[in-house]
Amino acid sequence: MADLIADLCQVKTFKDYGYVGCHRNAKVERAGRRYCGLHDPSRVAARKAKLDEKRAARRKALDDRYNAGADLVRRLGAGQPYDGGVWLSRDEAEALLARLKETR
Ligand SMILES: [Zn+2]
Repeated sequence: MADLIADLCQVKTFKDYGYVGCHRNAKVERAGRRYCGLHDPSRVAARKAKLDEKRAARRKALDDRYNAGADLVRRLGAGQPYDGGVWLSRDEAEALLARLKETR
């Protein structure tokens, strides 16, 4: 029995309102602790780095989209940035139409 427990991953996971030991077989040993393939610290770090990279790319795409809308607002002098474009209230739209008619 002791050998069976010694061969298990030593990470505690949260399950059913409490912490229990991981039930997977250990594959690697790092700094005196044994880990399964899922909880191997180097693989955990690699997964986290990949996720951080994906989140940063998504964050940049959202920021670029917002900044495109903010740039339009700055150039128009009216409205609020909205989903990569501009949201105008009725008054702001009427004022812009009036300005357009003046320039024609
Ligand atoms: Zn594990």
